[in-house]
Amino acid sequence: MRRDGPLTRIAIVGGGTAGWMAAAALARVLGTRQVAITLVESEEIGTVGVGEATIPPIQAFNALLGLDEDDFVRETMGSFKLGIEFVDWLRPGHRYFHPFGTYGVDAGAVPFEGLWHRLRRTGHAGPLESYSICAAAAAAGRFMRPTGQGNTPLSHIGYAFHFDAGLYARYLRRHAEAAGVVRREGRVVEVVRRDPDDFIDAVVLADGTRIEADLFIDCSGFRALLIGEAMGTGFEDWNAWLPNDRAVAVPSANAGAPTPYTRSTARGAGWQWRIPLQHRTGNGYVYASAHLSDDEAAATLLANLDGEPMAEPRLLRFRTGRRDAFWVGNCVALGLASGFMEPLESTSIHLVQAGIARLLEMLPTAAFEPADIRRYNRLMTAEFEAIRDFLILHFHATERDDTPYWRYLRDMAVPETLAERIRIYQATGRIFREADDLFTKTSWLAVMDGQGLRARGYDPLAAAMPAAEAAARLDRIAHVTAAAARQMPAHADFIARHCASGR
Ligand SMILES: Cc1cc2nc3c(=O)[nH]c(=O)nc-3n(C[C@H](O)[C@H](O)[C@H](O)COP(=O)(O)OP(=O)(O)OC[C@H]3O[C@@H](n4cnc5c(N)ncnc54)[C@H](O)[C@@H]3O)c2cc1C
Repeated sequence: MRRDGPLTRIAIVGGGTAGWMAAAALARVLGTRQVAITLVESEEIGTVGVGEATIPPIQAFNALLGLDEDDFVRETMGSFKLGIEFVDWLRPGHRYFHPFGTYGVDAGAVPFEGLWHRLRRTGHAGPLESYSICAAAAAAGRFMRPTGQGNTPLSHIGYAFHFDAGLYARYLRRHAEAAGVVRREGRVVEVVRRDPDDFIDAVVLADGTRIEADLFIDCSGFRALLIGEAMGTGFEDWNAWLPNDRAVAVPSANAGAPTPYTRSTARGAGWQWRIPLQHRTGNGYVYASAHLSDDEAAATLLANLDGEPMAEPRLLRFRTGRRDAFWVGNCVALGLASGFMEPLESTSIHLVQAGIARLLEMLPTAAFEPADIRRYNRLMTAEFEAIRDFLILHFHATERDDTPYWRYLRDMAVPETLAERIRIYQATGRIFREADDLFTKTSWLAVMDGQGLRARGYDPLAAAMPAAEAAARLDRIAHVTAAAARQMPAHADFIARHCASGR
């Protein structure tokens, strides 16, 4: 039987962040008159309930949904994020900042980092952070949205959000249901495949309800009910490079105004996150169970909170890696069902967004064009692998040798794609960006420099400018950046004025 024509039924299995993001976006773009969108979730199973820090591309997702950003921050008790502070990663006592936005400005074809590397050799360059408006504002606890006009650092402020994961899912659910998505409560107990193509025909709930669809989106979390359990798609394990496999998480009372950045502090067998929200602070210790017991992790976390814990610590187990394929037949996996990398650079929600954007770009008809499916899988694989390399860099480029965990990470062989980036940087100071790289030159430079990698040379393009002119240029950028940061309001005042929850 030949199948063709537009999709008329889409079923999303799972109502965590991934499921509701997919539901809200598909309903917004496709409408629900021609295509019925059903989301199945089980309150009994629940959601992972974490995932509270994001990166700037989420602004595009909010725009796609037509969200009012102040309303979104208010409803999710959110705060703004200008980057991540990394504490004790290079060695205990050291800190650096990975800012959003950019460092300085290029001088025509001469990249800023070329000039910076050149002047650094002669001691005439300041720390990278002095050339970033996001780093300067974060250090001063300030925030505002970019002005979008004028030749000032204030027009280049990059930002993302922290939010309460539970409130975010509920917020998206309201939008999705208002747009016509039908929610079904119930536990999927069977996945029915059809002949002769082995596509999924229906999912069956515990009460016997059968939900048929043309396209199934697997948002069932780590269990990967459809793509993994039913379709048998394998999993590529990255534990050898990223050995953390557990997290213990606990909210704590705020001990002051929320900072406009996430903090990540390296610990003996992992690292601890601190995510400031309006009503509480999210904390967690991500660690390798081969190196630390759950009790030790919880004790370390509780001993390192800014404020009083507000609940019992919660243990989460995970496996790092990706599905061998993200789209198989008529099933697309999003979120934890598609793979997972620890939240060091807040990339998981972004990967959900990227999957949704690509699915819309390659929206199938009932014929399911195999070339589209291959392309989708190729692009998502490249995106996962680029993020993987960026995360490995944080652990591998370190002077830490105080525990077996850090010695293992420092000495391990890294993927050749990352090894090559490091070689090029050390030889020339140059950072290149592959077509599908999520992370910008700023991000790679921040972490390469912050983790202690030093460039022996610099970009020959930076050699032509007279040294005095180059030094004056960098001084001017640092001066203008510091002055611009002083003009910004305090982060707490910005929230109070625009998006305080009042709850
Ligand atoms: C420790 C940790 C920290 C994280 N921090 C961040 C972060 O800071 N930033 C970030 O971007 N990401 C972060 N993430 C990732 C982020 O939490 C997830 O990507 C995001 O929440 C999406 O999860 P999900 O919707 O795929 O899965 P889940 O939240 O697990 O949802 C799965 C859904 O499927 C449903 N379900 C499962 N089985 C069935 C069944 N049989 N029948 C019916 N329904 C079923 C469940 O009820 C649930 O609704 C973090 C993850 C972890 C583990």
